[in-house]
Amino acid sequence: MTENNIRTVLISGGSVAGPALAFWLHHHGFAPTIVERAPELRDGGYAVDFRGEALDVLDRMGLLQQIEALDTQMGDAALVDADGRQYATLPAAMFAGDLEVLKGDLTRMLYEATRENVEYVFGDSIATLEQDEDGVLVTFERGAPRRFDLVVGADGLHSRTRALVFGPEEEFVRHLGIYTAIFNLDNYLGLQNTGRLYTAPGKAANIFTARANTEARAAFHFAAEGLEYDRRDPAAHKRIIAERFADEGWEVPRLLKEMDTAQEFFFDANAQVEMDTWSAGRVVLLGDAGYCAGPSSGRGTSQALIGAYLLAGELATCHGDHATAFAAYEQHMRPYVTEHQALGREGAQHFFLPAPSQEILDALVANATTTRTTPVRLHDYTTA
Ligand SMILES: Cc1cc2nc3c(=O)[nH]c(=O)nc-3n(C[C@H](O)[C@H](O)[C@H](O)COP(=O)(O)OP(=O)(O)OC[C@H]3O[C@@H](n4cnc5c(N)ncnc54)[C@H](O)[C@@H]3O)c2cc1C
Repeated sequence: MTENNIRTVLISGGSVAGPALAFWLHHHGFAPTIVERAPELRDGGYAVDFRGEALDVLDRMGLLQQIEALDTQMGDAALVDADGRQYATLPAAMFAGDLEVLKGDLTRMLYEATRENVEYVFGDSIATLEQDEDGVLVTFERGAPRRFDLVVGADGLHSRTRALVFGPEEEFVRHLGIYTAIFNLDNYLGLQNTGRLYTAPGKAANIFTARANTEARAAFHFAAEGLEYDRRDPAAHKRIIAERFADEGWEVPRLLKEMDTAQEFFFDANAQVEMDTWSAGRVVLLGDAGYCAGPSSGRGTSQALIGAYLLAGELATCHGDHATAFAAYEQHMRPYVTEHQALGREGAQHFFLPAPSQEILDALVANATTTRTTPVRLHDYTTA
């Protein structure tokens, strides 16, 4: 038990940030509950990477060896032209970070590490939140209303918690001018721990191996300002992609066919979340919900893990003063996030280089892999 009077914490979102926070909250003696909208754990998904201090957090969780075993072992990838000729090499360091895993594998690992000590509620969502001096009354779309001492929104870019407490998405979500679709398929090109990337003005397509070359993931990216579409209609998303890529070369016609029948399909705008503050009363945001840096930053999972570690640690040492804990968490995280968001915007600007030369690529890689991340100090809360 903690010495302070905060005990029950509801976390909305059970992907990366949510389970990582639950791990640390339980470690410090709190009673976390995770409510996850998806009916069950999502397997597979796209690849995400970790950098720097995030590996330190995984080590402190005792999960570093497990995550290393899930590494995609991705090697350098090749840029190809419309006829499939390789004209440049993209080093793995540019896109696979210090360690790269499938997002679903990461979520499952975090779930397995927390399931015995954390209450998980799948297939539900917060409907309303009402704060008073002693806690938060939460109603759910399905389950019965409950009271919690604190509520954490770890429900991603389109956070319901953020919308309920801070205001509509349009106020905080900044579109980076890129849309991305990702789906799974067979590794029909027979690639070995590598990928192929094809670019055209304002468009890109790629395929990368997954799960020890037994599968692959392909992606389509295109530049566009805010499009109007139903976010929950994959058929509409696929039509948008098919129209945009109708006349492209390389493997694009085959990839479009594969996309039609893919079991897993993801489509969204690349975006960032910009907020002046990440907490209001007894509600606080974590990970993409509060400070998404965009896929082009390559830092989202690292932010989620480090934010979870810091937030739980500050709550453990705040003597019941959650406002002080939230302020300290934000103070530690914000410079780190600010730099990543700058990286994300820069990455988005350079995303669509039509047929870049090896020299241009090398310069971009050197720039992106230079250690310039604002270090975030992982205080030792374990002795608190
Ligand atoms: C295409 C793509 C590629 C990426 N590549 C990388 C990369 O290489 N490296 C990297 O570091 N990051 C990458 N990212 C970013 C990374 O995926 C995110 O930053 C990271 O997953 C953030 O974790 P999170 O837990 O905050 O949010 P999310 O992973 O978005 O999880 C949010 C969770 O909340 C749930 N949820 C949503 N709404 C509700 C609700 N109303 N009630 C309950 N639950 C809800 C969702 O189902 C989900 O499980 C990429 C992102 C994308 C889109």
